[in-house]
Amino acid sequence: MRWSQTYIPTLRQQQSDAELISHQLLLRAGYIRKLGAGIYLYLPLMQRVIEKFSKIVREEMNRAGALEITMSVLCPAEVWQKSGRYYTIGKEQMRLKDRHQHEMVLCGTHEETVTSLVAGELKSYKQLPLNLYQIQVKFRDEIRPRFGLMRGREFIMKDAYTFDADETSFAKTYQGMVDAYFAIFKRAGIDVVKVESDTGAMGGKAAHEFMLLVNTNAGEEIIISCESCDYAANIEKAEFEDTVNVKTDNDLKEMKKVDTPGAATIEEVTAFLKVDATRLVKTLLYIADGKPVAAMIRGDRDLNEVKLKNALKAVELEMANPEQVQQFTGCPIGFAGPVGLRNDIPILVDPLVGRLKNFIVGANENEKHILNVNLDRDFKATKVVNLSKAREGDGCPRCRGRLITRDGIEVGNTFMLGTKYSETLGAKYLDAEGKEHPCIMGSYGIGITRTPQAVLERYFDDKGIIWPKNIAPYLVELIPISMESSEQVETAEKIYRELQEAGIEVLYDDRPERAGVKFNDADLVGLPIRITIGDKSLKQGMVELKARAEKDFTLVAINQVVTAVKNLAQRLN
Ligand code: ATP
Ligand code: MG
Repeated sequence: MRWSQTYIPTLRQQQSDAELISHQLLLRAGYIRKLGAGIYLYLPLMQRVIEKFSKIVREEMNRAGALEITMSVLCPAEVWQKSGRYYTIGKEQMRLKDRHQHEMVLCGTHEETVTSLVAGELKSYKQLPLNLYQIQVKFRDEIRPRFGLMRGREFIMKDAYTFDADETSFAKTYQGMVDAYFAIFKRAGIDVVKVESDTGAMGGKAAHEFMLLVNTNAGEEIIISCESCDYAANIEKAEFEDTVNVKTDNDLKEMKKVDTPGAATIEEVTAFLKVDATRLVKTLLYIADGKPVAAMIRGDRDLNEVKLKNALKAVELEMANPEQVQQFTGCPIGFAGPVGLRNDIPILVDPLVGRLKNFIVGANENEKHILNVNLDRDFKATKVVNLSKAREGDGCPRCRGRLITRDGIEVGNTFMLGTKYSETLGAKYLDAEGKEHPCIMGSYGIGITRTPQAVLERYFDDKGIIWPKNIAPYLVELIPISMESSEQVETAEKIYRELQEAGIEVLYDDRPERAGVKFNDADLVGLPIRITIGDKSLKQGMVELKARAEKDFTLVAINQVVTAVKNLAQRLN
């Protein structure tokens, strides 16, 4: 492709609305433009990146036995009402009415559609396992669309859905998808880690996420992993062994209300009462599906909202605001406690609190706390359930090794769905004896637009992008220093032709621009290999060959360029 004939609107200035380096680079290097919040347009270079990555995904999915189909984005609401998710998915689902006032949804995922597709059509166990996938646009009205392609409201996903007859067969299918995922990300130039994750709105039994670890501030996810064994989980899901040395009393002491003037936060109360944070118990008030609940955790730990949401089986969960706290407890934030709390408010208690004796809680009165409170004696738990967030330094739930935290970007995931959708939507098959069973299902997503941007959080420098070769829009950028030199132009045309004949994709910067402008753009756009043609080397019949990721160039004879490019490409990521 000749630069003069494509459309690469590069920008020199920093883009103020892009916080992440990857987002900044895609805008500045002319890959994407924003149309609205979470809505992006893919320009020619981005289109090629998406095609490259999609091709890798297709090849590996096909190799694993998956069959490509295309399902509609538009879906009648009834299909989602049947599974029940219409009522639980919340505001993330985009909805509309057609001209006949018929309710429709724009799919953000396709479990309902694919299950209705096979329901009634699948007859015998002999047709299983079945694995259907598509690469297609998705719509989700994300609360916080941000970071460019990382979290859009319209984005492209590869989604696959599997149907198996029994658990043994499903285990093989699931492992097949996991293997395909590792192969896909490896070919795209990144190593990913597989972590246990929460099943969230998808339902089902277990799930894994594929994370790209990053050192930039792009990591929206925190991963907990063990230094000694291979345990790794999203922090939303992570279990842990509490290894904090907590001093406890032998005897239960009498409750005592004390003044704690000006002390509302854990730091203030521990400083004022001169006690360790492990003696305090926080009572946090939330609104779960419109109703108040209290969650109690030890003073030194943080609450894991996903664990709380799951324990309550809630669809929407948010912290109570100051007015609501005042309404529920009769006092400002910081003094809520379980003793004498309004009895229509359920109290969920973390097991670490259950182990404490004579702890300190808020008194439901302004600037007052109660000492020597004990579970069961002084208040009852509606439910004792894990609510604490794992943190660095905790013990591994498997081997008691030390847990550490890392930042990651979720690029893909796999869900064990069980029979939730096959039962509600009727995806059943007959076994050898003619008995009917629901299929065991799995679903598997990869962010087709998120992943390439995520890759850039790892591969860039102060000048621009450094694409891994397999998803770069072109492998080579060809730059004659001056378009006014007929010798340079002739050589460029010859090399351009030869590379193309050899099946090597090349972007030929044929603009009549200054060399500096072309070099800057080349570094920004980030193609893996650059060939520069200048008078000095040309006199010796040579051109310069340089990897974007490396500082030095080598001189290559004009008639050796194709071989040299192939050799260089081979050793690049
Ligand atoms: P997240 O936790 O990041 O919201 P998710 O659990 O909602 O992701 P899935 O529904 O399983 O994700 O979607 C599969 C894949 O699609 C994700 O792994 C991610 O790569 C991609 N993806 C999900 N939401 C978005 C989005 N809003 N914009 C771009 N890509 C997305
Ligand atoms: Mg999501």
